[in-house]
Amino acid sequence: MGSEANTHILLISYPAQGHINPLLRLAKCLAAKGASVIFITTEKAGKDIRTVNNIIEKSLTSIGDGSLTFEFLDDGLEDDHPLRGNLLGYIEHLKLVGKPFVSQMIKNHADSNKPFSCIINNPFVPWVCDVADEHGIPSALLWIQSTAVFSAYYNYFHKLVRFPSQTEPYIDVQLPFQVLKYNEIPDFLHPFSQFPFLGTLILEQFKNLSKVFCVLVETYEELEHDFIDYISKKTIFVRPIGPLFHNPNIKGAKNIRGDFVKSDDCNIIEWLSTKPKGSVVYISFGSIVYIPQEQVNEIAYGLLDSQVSFLWVLKPPSEELGLKEHNLPDGFLEGISERGKVVNWSPQEEVLAHPSVACFITHCGWNSSMEALSLGVPMLTFPAWGDQVTNAKFLVDVFGVGIRLGYGMIENKLVTRDEVKKCLLEATTGEKAEELKKNAMKWKKKADEAVAIGGSSDRNLDEFMEDIQNRCNIFFEEVKLVHSN
Ligand code: UDP
Repeated sequence: MGSEANTHILLISYPAQGHINPLLRLAKCLAAKGASVIFITTEKAGKDIRTVNNIIEKSLTSIGDGSLTFEFLDDGLEDDHPLRGNLLGYIEHLKLVGKPFVSQMIKNHADSNKPFSCIINNPFVPWVCDVADEHGIPSALLWIQSTAVFSAYYNYFHKLVRFPSQTEPYIDVQLPFQVLKYNEIPDFLHPFSQFPFLGTLILEQFKNLSKVFCVLVETYEELEHDFIDYISKKTIFVRPIGPLFHNPNIKGAKNIRGDFVKSDDCNIIEWLSTKPKGSVVYISFGSIVYIPQEQVNEIAYGLLDSQVSFLWVLKPPSEELGLKEHNLPDGFLEGISERGKVVNWSPQEEVLAHPSVACFITHCGWNSSMEALSLGVPMLTFPAWGDQVTNAKFLVDVFGVGIRLGYGMIENKLVTRDEVKKCLLEATTGEKAEELKKNAMKWKKKADEAVAIGGSSDRNLDEFMEDIQNRCNIFFEEVKLVHSN
């Protein structure tokens, strides 16, 4: 393609694991396509990322024909500052310190003859588009949830269909192609949500959509064709480019990761390899969701009663949240012996890709959902909040790869050990298990094709790079014209 070496791209991520993972994967994909990429998140996250993943700040790593460099933004707060436990307050603070930092960085790069051609952000930092706009630099958004969820927010923001309200909390939502029940919409938009401010924050991104020239989506054309088409017709330039982690161009860079927590040093993959093919249940609720202790007990007894082998990620809650660490029932660990493993964190992509894994009990975060879908792993859906409840609906009823196990937080229902056992048996043996696996393998094949050279996502990434180049050329032509007059 020629001039990608001059393509300097800045990516800025909100410091949450579920935000960093997809944006960092995009950073690697763009570098593999020849761009010089700088990835920024906060210094607090940077401390963990550097330690856990042996990353050196400001040191350039070659990927394909391009490169990736990490830089970290100091938010000026002590590690135990109370603002860190107040999401809304922290996001406002980050905007205050982030705007001048990014602005200065843009100036420095322009002064040293390496001007940014494009700036990309992800949800919770919509101000990045404002800074880019002030400097006349094209910007793009990486949407890290599904296109169906994007459509739900879009319809809510523009008041295109009726959503549940205080007076009508149980109405259905008539999205194009899909009717969602009150408990299947992204629940930050529901009047019973415990976190309505997160809905407001996500909607901020929709206010700023006119400032981005493109919305890159962590999905693939074949998976969400109808919703992608629907949103494209709304004059939003959408480019599906996922599943990013699965992109063959970045396989060689798989050790460049943004994990906050080190995977347990207990040979997880070696242990999986001692198990028969398709025999292990993997359980994880992502990086933030906190399951009540009573629910942890029921899952534990369900696992014991069903006699399956399992790998369970029981991540201690982050300190800022002030939540109690979970206890496993007395004698649980002795009872399972070699049949199961409980860990703080796992190398999830490798775990899901392992042939011993039969199915995944998941909270349905979009990253986890995409990872399992594109690795052909059936799921037992156990969502908590936000888009997880919508993802669960699609995994079960639309993509046909899941069995509904848990309910979203607004239902506030306990899933009993008997239900856990029943669903586990259903997902691992018999006709239903076969059907789920068949569908999961179908989506895996389509994901493989989408990211292969010339596939839909690969073409979209190439065209995105071309878009950036064209916009830059126009910009420099205009600057030349101004100077010559
Ligand atoms: N993850 C991991 N190891 C674990 C648990 C999770 O590497 O033990 C990764 C997982 O692969 C995914 C991310 O953390 O990329 C979680 O993102 P997701 O959107 O699924 O959930 P969130 O944490 O944002 O709720």
